[in-house]
Amino acid sequence: MRFSSLTGHAALKATLINNVREGRVAHAQLFLGPRGSGTLPLALAYARYLFCQQPGAADACGECPSCQQMDHLAHPDLNLAFPIFLGEKGKSCSPYLEQWREAVLDEPYLDDEVWRRELNGENKQLTIGVDIAQEVNRQLSLKAYRGGWKVMLIWLPEAMNLQAANKLLKVLEEPEERTVFLLVAHQAEHLLPTILSRVQLVKVPALTEADVLEELQVRFPDLGEAEARAIAIRSEGDVLEATTMAEKGEDELFLLFRDWLRACYARKVDLTSGHMEVFNKLGREKQKALMRYALYLMRQCVLQWQGAHPLVVVAGEERDFVEKFATLVNERNIPGIREELETAHYHLERNANPKVLFMDLSYRMMGLLRA
Ligand SMILES: [Zn+2]
Repeated sequence: MRFSSLTGHAALKATLINNVREGRVAHAQLFLGPRGSGTLPLALAYARYLFCQQPGAADACGECPSCQQMDHLAHPDLNLAFPIFLGEKGKSCSPYLEQWREAVLDEPYLDDEVWRRELNGENKQLTIGVDIAQEVNRQLSLKAYRGGWKVMLIWLPEAMNLQAANKLLKVLEEPEERTVFLLVAHQAEHLLPTILSRVQLVKVPALTEADVLEELQVRFPDLGEAEARAIAIRSEGDVLEATTMAEKGEDELFLLFRDWLRACYARKVDLTSGHMEVFNKLGREKQKALMRYALYLMRQCVLQWQGAHPLVVVAGEERDFVEKFATLVNERNIPGIREELETAHYHLERNANPKVLFMDLSYRMMGLLRA
């Protein structure tokens, strides 16, 4: 990961580089931003810049031995900690190191969901336990291999349990020379205040629509311009979400959702209806994507209903749908609809039976739409 290969965030990249060039490298930094915004690749590009033996004004050189090692995330002074399922191959990160590197090289915008899938445990709990914190301490006690910066990157510190957090607090309190902690997180509210108070915040905003569009065009060169643009709008700055949508085809989720909602309104969803079968065959990831998409489209309907038309971000057929459906929402059913979709997503994440869940959701929707 190099700064120049990452989409967007021009001002933030410049600030990060200038700080290094001016010798202002905070001992502990928290890269905090929403899913799909690029927190992890930015932190890795920053680490590469610190390690680079001939750093330029805008990026690492890309050619020195350090840069070559960073191409494989295998620089000896890049130490990594990340959440795992405790209790399988031991409790520390080292048995998973290769797998994690591969996952990140394959998808630098990696999130916990993708990582869980990599580890084959979609509904298990990812944790940074005390053994990992001990491993971190051990790595910190070693001298930098190359005699320059030593980086300790902790991915998803939200997953730290209390014991691990307390252990890490100590090292955050006592900075060692030329050692930098890079914490990469999505949810500050899940971090201990004592940790938050010891890190410098690097706030990573969501990407813009234009940034996501650019990334999509790199990832899917055959995707049509109009389709890519519609996905970029819908993704709300989340590269992972945009990628999922592009892989699935633009219209699929929309058509599914629209037809299902129409059937709900007409009270035509029952155990024998085709919607049940279609939903059941989607697979868990797609079922979840459908719920997220439904929530997105509901937000657009609410904005439309509230008369905030300039804020409605939809294109093509979605616009027709939003304009029509907005006449069916009101203050009595909006909170309920939103809650039902969020609850469905929550239960899908926890492996609920999709058939039962979808039937239940459909009945509730039928009631709410007629409220
Ligand atoms: Zn270099």
